[in-house]
Amino acid sequence: MTTIADRSTAELADLRAQARAAYDAFKARGLKLDMTRGKPAPEQLDLATGMLALPGNGDYTTAAGEDARNYGGQQGLPELRALFSHLIDAPADQIVVGGNSSLALMHDTIVWALLKGVPGSERPWSKEEEPVFLCPVPGYDRHFALCEEFGIRMIPVPMTGQGPDMDVVEAFVANPAVKGMWCVPKYANPSGEIFSDETVRRLAAMKTGAPDFRLFWDNAYAVHHLTPDRHPVRDILAACAEAGHPDRPFLYASTSKITLAGAGLAVFAGSPENTRWFLARSAKQTIGPDKLNQLRHVRFLRDAAGLQAHMDAHRALIAPKFAAVQEALERHLAGTGAARWTRPEGGYFITVEARAGTATEVVRLAKEAGIALTPAGATSPYGRDPQDSVLRLAPTFPSLGDVTKAAEGIALCILLASLEAEQG
Ligand code: PLP
Repeated sequence: MTTIADRSTAELADLRAQARAAYDAFKARGLKLDMTRGKPAPEQLDLATGMLALPGNGDYTTAAGEDARNYGGQQGLPELRALFSHLIDAPADQIVVGGNSSLALMHDTIVWALLKGVPGSERPWSKEEEPVFLCPVPGYDRHFALCEEFGIRMIPVPMTGQGPDMDVVEAFVANPAVKGMWCVPKYANPSGEIFSDETVRRLAAMKTGAPDFRLFWDNAYAVHHLTPDRHPVRDILAACAEAGHPDRPFLYASTSKITLAGAGLAVFAGSPENTRWFLARSAKQTIGPDKLNQLRHVRFLRDAAGLQAHMDAHRALIAPKFAAVQEALERHLAGTGAARWTRPEGGYFITVEARAGTATEVVRLAKEAGIALTPAGATSPYGRDPQDSVLRLAPTFPSLGDVTKAAEGIALCILLASLEAEQG
């Protein structure tokens, strides 16, 4: 197929008229579709409906014989930590289960780091001239919002398909002002990429200017596979310990997209020193977490095999939605040069790299046609995508029928915006 850039002026005019007609016809259908939200669909939440009856009237005793209704158990039930050890890739005694939102744990660890410092700090991070975080791009907008909230300067780092560009990372972390780095190591939000063994090795081994530098290792999609291939990621705790930097990673995960997004469990893990530090802080915050919810999760998920079977049921529901988006993008855009896009094997997003300078226009065209898209720039620090090219598509929440329609409309918008940009 001839790319848009290789078309003659007459061909371009023709194609543009066709694309405009197709777009107008789509718009005339008066649809109302939303591809912004990386949320589980109601059918996915239904998979965990059985949990609502658990632990059940009269079932409140933990494996250790303790009363889950009472205060205490600050670190989380040992039987649950043993189960989550598979999720977060850490020994059970280095795991803390707290609350329902891993984002809240990231928030709290950053606030504690700013106010008190972390193990190895010379002073609280807020006493540094200007703490800096490295931010792989495209990335998760809420990570960036946390940095903005607390005045942490963000430096974008490009992704390579194997994780962040390590040459760039190694150059920046030599600066002692760089205190942290966001990492979504598996099925990254939104690129879907998986950090390679070599990326993990270099992150663990690299020389940092700050003695208290931390990797914020947000394994939000650890078991969220879209294919039968359950990709592993190299164990960051072990890699850092081997490299002589045992305290480097703070690990996070949650069951938000496993059981219930609004009533799951969040998990923190780290070296023994980091875990002690975390528990010392959280002991001031609470006299103990919701252990009935923890018991509910133990009863429902049971073990690693139960967790895996549950995630297979999620995959059966959402993989067809991802396939529908691929099909529409392929059909309308393959070979045109108007866009490139990811084919994720897990996670919740598809990233489209549209022609430079057209992402904002694609979002506008989509909105006029009744499709809500995440604002252009949302996947970059400060909401600024210098190329104006990245679009984040979230196919999980709408029904398969709606995703199929929306994907069609989005592909038409990308094509039209590209043809219009080419013609000037
Ligand atoms: N981290 C990443 C990378 C995410 O994509 C999300 C949700 O989309 C979260 C964290 C939120 O996690 P939680 O629900 O545990 O707060």
